[in-house]
Amino acid sequence: LVVLGIETSCDDTAAAVVKGNGEILSQVVSSQADLLAKYGGVAPKMAEEAHSQVIDQVVQEALDKANLTATNLSAVAVTIGPGLSLCLRVGVRKARKLAGSFNLPIIGIHHMEAHALVARLIERELQFPFMALLISGGHNLLILAHDLGLYIQLGTTIDDAIGEAYDKTAKWLGLDMSRSGGPALEELAREGDAESIKFSIPMKQHKDCNFSYAGLKTQVRLAIESKNMYVENTKLLLTLIMCSNAEIPISSASSQDRRSRADIAASFQRVAVLHLEERCDRAIEWARKIEPSIKHLVVSGGVASNQYVRARLDHVVKKNSLQLVCPPPKLCTDNGVMVAWTGIEHFCMGRFDPPPPADEHEDYMYDLRPRWPLGEEYAEGRSEAR
Ligand code: ATP
Ligand code: FE
Repeated sequence: LVVLGIETSCDDTAAAVVKGNGEILSQVVSSQADLLAKYGGVAPKMAEEAHSQVIDQVVQEALDKANLTATNLSAVAVTIGPGLSLCLRVGVRKARKLAGSFNLPIIGIHHMEAHALVARLIERELQFPFMALLISGGHNLLILAHDLGLYIQLGTTIDDAIGEAYDKTAKWLGLDMSRSGGPALEELAREGDAESIKFSIPMKQHKDCNFSYAGLKTQVRLAIESKNMYVENTKLLLTLIMCSNAEIPISSASSQDRRSRADIAASFQRVAVLHLEERCDRAIEWARKIEPSIKHLVVSGGVASNQYVRARLDHVVKKNSLQLVCPPPKLCTDNGVMVAWTGIEHFCMGRFDPPPPADEHEDYMYDLRPRWPLGEEYAEGRSEAR
């Protein structure tokens, strides 16, 4: 069994070839980092164009690196949601074209399910049921995975996801966004004092497993604005004191600036992750009432590649006598491997669609699901939260 996975739900164009036994034969990711850095976010139309430009090349490279041609494939898996429909379309069109030409079954994949299930590729001991915390650019989910395709949503974000908060904070701090804001912020935070600014932890009074990052974003913004005012005032003061011709000691001002930005980064990160820790603690309690046998918490999605996040969650998991399963960073951020692997899991259960017609028109109404919840909401959660 050999499956090609294609992923274009957001800003990365990714493809990979994975074998039924979990062997990764190839993985290719083309990111739109330059566009992200230039515009500070994902603009759907531009992202669609960028995907269209590279999709053929990315898929071909994945096949070449695996030393295969499409005739050797057993099936094609492709993300059909959630995500930007213009972007999803590019991947789905490519997948169907290929599947149609080579008479291959096709498997439509849920992007967040793929983020969770890739953990089963790297940790073979990981059996259902397990818990997952999925933290990325657009999602903050706590789920209980009963079985393949059977998920209970214990918590979700009521506004922004943590990745969005990392990205905005990084942008406001003027960090290099060419790799997305998260890694740059993680790096800067290492230099800062995490206790220096007392941001408040979101949703303290809500005894549920939901998340909120919009308020923390506002707190950070205010802190940055007040520091900026301070720096501007200091410069002005120095200019006045030293009289116009004197050289302003820029180096010390900017190192001071870096220091205070690092303090903001570290303080933000501490509270952003404390919020995750608190929610995980409660979710484990809830999940154990439904499935006392759970042994693992999977942490995946782009933000799970952060070392501080991993260390803090490892602590929570150990305290609760569970095991943490966190995929390597390259499999936490968007990739084709997770799509191919999730395809393999479904394929093995007989869940796939027949090959599309070889002459399918490009305007065919694809089954895209830009908004697609993962599993049922945990109804009792609402009463427990009271
Ligand atoms: P979603 O999965 O919700 O559809 P996405 O696919 O765009 O969103 P991912 O690729 O899964 O997102 O994750 C990208 C997010 O992860 C970005 O917000 C990015 O800043 C964040 N991220 C990546 N690396 C790190 C890191 N080291 N620390 C913090 N955040 C990080
Ligand atoms: Fe993602």
